[in-house]
Amino acid sequence: MSIFDFTLEELEDYLVKNGFKKYNATQIIEWIYEKKVYDFNKMSNLSKKLISFLNENIRIEKLEVLQVEKSPLANKYLLRLNDNNKIECVLMNHDYGYSLCVSSQVGCNMGCSFCESGRLKKVRDLTLGELVSEVISVRDYEGVRIDSIVVMGIGEPFDNFINIKRFISVVTNNKMVGIGQRHLTISTCGLVPKIYEFADLETGVNLAISLHAPNNEIRDRIMKVNKAYKIEEVMAALDYYISKTNRRVTIEYIMLEGINDSDECARELSNLVKGKLMYVNLIPYNETSNFTMKRSNDFKIKSFYDILKSNNVNVTIRKEMGGNLSAACGQLRANAERL
Ligand code: SF4
Repeated sequence: MSIFDFTLEELEDYLVKNGFKKYNATQIIEWIYEKKVYDFNKMSNLSKKLISFLNENIRIEKLEVLQVEKSPLANKYLLRLNDNNKIECVLMNHDYGYSLCVSSQVGCNMGCSFCESGRLKKVRDLTLGELVSEVISVRDYEGVRIDSIVVMGIGEPFDNFINIKRFISVVTNNKMVGIGQRHLTISTCGLVPKIYEFADLETGVNLAISLHAPNNEIRDRIMKVNKAYKIEEVMAALDYYISKTNRRVTIEYIMLEGINDSDECARELSNLVKGKLMYVNLIPYNETSNFTMKRSNDFKIKSFYDILKSNNVNVTIRKEMGGNLSAACGQLRANAERL
């Protein structure tokens, strides 16, 4: 087991069950997360007995960085897991600090028709240790401070809900990764029951939803999940989330030429979100050779944006950070695995 597989409470319980003190957990956590000491033998305030117990039972394990693609505003990392599976992370350099986009699964079963990650079925969920190691490994590799985290990489986070809940606990704990709840965002394609569960956690963590269509007809065509949960159900779940948390929801909308980018689509989307505590993020599509779908041109994106604006919808166009990267999420992994 890896040290990154524990929340603070879990480590306390584990140590107490094995005859040690609860406060030993905090001591270990401080060494690991604050002082970045990754060797139990160097933790000078721990007893010899505890150090030998830790050496026998717990590994301190970061993920190997196999490949890095660099561009001025974002770096993409291919990371190797213990069982040789590979995942991706993207570190973005915003003017307000570094933001890390992490993966939650190896592959994804949601099968969105435009998505490179979803083209490759889920192999397995990431463990808590692997989720946390993504953050620690990239942070240490670059020697930077990460200011915010988005769980928006390969995988559907709410399909790995138990570990995502534990991840939230580790990331937002001041003694651990120490990122404020408001600087952590979980993005889902719309697993409605989990949106309700997430709302009931009342964490203050942000929620983003990959909507990508303003009606069921289009969404059915491009997102399989819409067969299970229709737009009306997703919007009702988001209303519930907002009523519980008073947090603004981000509506992610990938602009696909001739599919969801018409003026009529913009008007329908406006009607869906208008007057709600929501904002729309228009995302220029990253084309890949595995799909025929095309990115809407800049004129179309701007006109879509203008229609939303004129309907008093909060909207932004996502800056294209990728530059020359294998920019589509999952593309670096697919290339590396020759999948
Ligand atoms: S867009 Fe997200 S949910 Fe859909 S297939 Fe890709 S990784 Fe999975």
